[in-house]
Amino acid sequence: MKGATDLTLAIPTTSAGSTSCEMDYDRDKTRRRRTVCSRLCDQYRYVKFCLRSLTYNYFTNSGTVVDTCMEPAFWLVNHVTRYMGPLMVILVIILTSTVVSVVYICILPRCLAQETYLQLAFHLTFGHWLLVNIIFHYYKGVRTPPGYPPQIVSDTGVATICKKCIAPKPPRTHHCSICNKCILKMDHHCPWINNCVGHYNYRYFIMFCIYMWVGTLYICVSAWPLFREEFFDAQKTFDSLLAGSLFFTMLHSYNIAKQNKTDALLERVSSLSNSESAYHKAVVFQFIVCFSVLIALGVLTTWHVRLICRGETSIEKHINDSERARLKKVNVIYRNPYNFGVKENWRKLLGLYGGRSFWRHTLLPSSHPPEHDGTRWESQVTPGYVPTELA
Ligand SMILES: [Zn+2]
Ligand SMILES: [Zn+2]
Repeated sequence: MKGATDLTLAIPTTSAGSTSCEMDYDRDKTRRRRTVCSRLCDQYRYVKFCLRSLTYNYFTNSGTVVDTCMEPAFWLVNHVTRYMGPLMVILVIILTSTVVSVVYICILPRCLAQETYLQLAFHLTFGHWLLVNIIFHYYKGVRTPPGYPPQIVSDTGVATICKKCIAPKPPRTHHCSICNKCILKMDHHCPWINNCVGHYNYRYFIMFCIYMWVGTLYICVSAWPLFREEFFDAQKTFDSLLAGSLFFTMLHSYNIAKQNKTDALLERVSSLSNSESAYHKAVVFQFIVCFSVLIALGVLTTWHVRLICRGETSIEKHINDSERARLKKVNVIYRNPYNFGVKENWRKLLGLYGGRSFWRHTLLPSSHPPEHDGTRWESQVTPGYVPTELA
């Protein structure tokens, strides 16, 4: 005990009452705290530096930030489109086959009974010409690869490097995030053909759209009298709908169970035979499908026809529009370098060169390739064009 008392007495005290040992301890604690703080600060600065070095881009703007934030949504849409593609192709085949079957079963017999031989010959020729072209161009649109840029760097018109493929990217080439490939003269990725629309299959795509649109218009016009007869007969429509409904099935079962054969509604619906009901539904279904496709495809085809007349793809339209707006501010008129005039633009798209004719190579199925390989493009001289970096 004595030793302990002596030790206590030997430690000097401060005016505030704390010992020098406690002061050393406080100093150590503060130093340690500062070290931890400075380490954390260093770590924070390091992470910040890393993030900036990875993401810093001189051209970053609000659009890039929005695109980055929307990346998960794009990812979802891309995956859904990729996996839904085969189902969409099957849907197109089923709908087209159903409509064609209804034409053969419901409309042609009516034509045989009511129209002259000349009219009948016209229907058979024109209808089958459209059908062959629709099938051919759809098949080619689905099966023909849109065109991919060569992987070897050469002097064949390489414009930039794709930052996703890390490969040379010729002019008019764009990266498709659904196919995960660069596509020559890419227009868009079409889920209805489960393929990208590019340099080698653009002609098949647009010809399919045009033939399909004409086909639906032809069916709508031909089937209109029959549709009017069937659809605007209110009682037939009501009875036909009721005959296939769950309510009617239940009512029918109830009446059989009760042996009540005198139900007025049941008698009326039963008067419409199964074949009449199926015929009515087929005619109405066919007309509604064709009319819907006529409107939707009409809008899409008009959009593409207008783009072809202007010598640009769907992607280039957005680029050209923003370039046009930018140059307008400095009183410069922008001209699309790939616009050679309506006639020449269509000639290039349809691949009518080297003696090929419109009658043989456009109105009839033809597998001829486009004029160039899609890596080099002639461009119109645009006297008013000012490159972005000089503006
Ligand atoms: Zn790419
Ligand atoms: Zn694609």
